[in-house]
Amino acid sequence: MFDEIHYQPETVAVHGGQRRSAEGEMSEPIFASTSFVFSSAAEAAARFSGEKPGNIYSRFTNPTVQVFEQRLAAMEGGERAVATSSGMAAILATCLGLLKSGDHMVASNGIFGSTVILFNNYLAKFGIETSYAPLTDLAAWRAAIRPNTRILFLETPANPLTEVADIAQLAALAHEYGCLLVVDNTVCTSALQRPLQLGADVVVVSATKYIDGQGRAIGGAVIGREKEVGGDVYGVLRTAGPCLSPFHAWMFLKGLETLGVRMQAHCANALALAEWLERQPAVERVFYPGLVSHPQHELAKRQQRGFGGLLSFEVKGGRDAAWKVIDHTRLIAITANLGDTKTTITHPATTTHGRLTPEARAAAGIKDNLVRVAVGLENLEDIKSDLARGLNR
Ligand SMILES: *Cc1c(COP(=O)(O)O)cnc(C)c1O
Repeated sequence: MFDEIHYQPETVAVHGGQRRSAEGEMSEPIFASTSFVFSSAAEAAARFSGEKPGNIYSRFTNPTVQVFEQRLAAMEGGERAVATSSGMAAILATCLGLLKSGDHMVASNGIFGSTVILFNNYLAKFGIETSYAPLTDLAAWRAAIRPNTRILFLETPANPLTEVADIAQLAALAHEYGCLLVVDNTVCTSALQRPLQLGADVVVVSATKYIDGQGRAIGGAVIGREKEVGGDVYGVLRTAGPCLSPFHAWMFLKGLETLGVRMQAHCANALALAEWLERQPAVERVFYPGLVSHPQHELAKRQQRGFGGLLSFEVKGGRDAAWKVIDHTRLIAITANLGDTKTTITHPATTTHGRLTPEARAAAGIKDNLVRVAVGLENLEDIKSDLARGLNR
């Protein structure tokens, strides 16, 4: 069996967790089996009681899913990973596992829209309250903490303005108040950023985005210590059942093998595109952590191994100018998704952030002339030409 401890991250991404069977297969097998057979009644009893390890039922023990979990845990530098049916299921399972009625959470402004709805509309029904703090304002985070606060939750870089949080600083703050820091690492993935190494307690990720990387399958995971993830979060998964299918686990395993090189290619394209956009007369401002003009550029350089595939920019003129850029694309897809080999473009003010009041949108800094691009792996010149068409009208 492959021993993760003896190898570098790129090698772990390719081999981690693999257990070759007696068939001698090169690629990890898909175990499409709901249940597993015991050799005797005593063996069944021992596995059910937890006295003996082994497979029981694929809601909580599937060998293909376990290989994915083990590989991802090693890549993020966590003791344990639990795979889930979606990124949202990862966040839900984390909250159900680690919080109870009467607890309070502080989350950063501008986290993923469905996460906000989960916190405000659903967890709130069960007596778990969430307040919000600006991602980069440490004093505001501190002021938002209450005696019953249990979790600080953030995404970095944030979408769509790519603000970068200081993970080590927020982890120290969380621990000062006996809280856990949970980081949504979807936008960077372990290839660019390892929050657990910076002091975070739990990482949640939507595998739907860069881990699959080709826009095919929905899934997610929670990574962290044995205590929280192997105990509390796994318990929710096992019982409530938002588990990952072995087919999707296999796709994500294959995704992990190329994640590092794909992320570096996304980063290279995005940085070059951001620099080009900054030189366009029709562009007012560009938001990308790799630009020297970005307020947290130095922090991003320290904290990340690359600046990511996500950028946004303000077009001179208002909403119409932004829509013109979007509507004149032919290659780039108009969709809110990210983390695909295919470049996507969206108008945050009327889509992902359209449900906010104009005041809340203004407070979040999302203007009507803002355009977000999730940069894919096409040739850079083709992406530029596609955007230039609308910018030069
Ligand atoms: C997409 C996304 C999610 C939710 O993931 P799903 O797999 O769509 O459920 C959570 N957080 C971030 C940052 C995302 O981009």
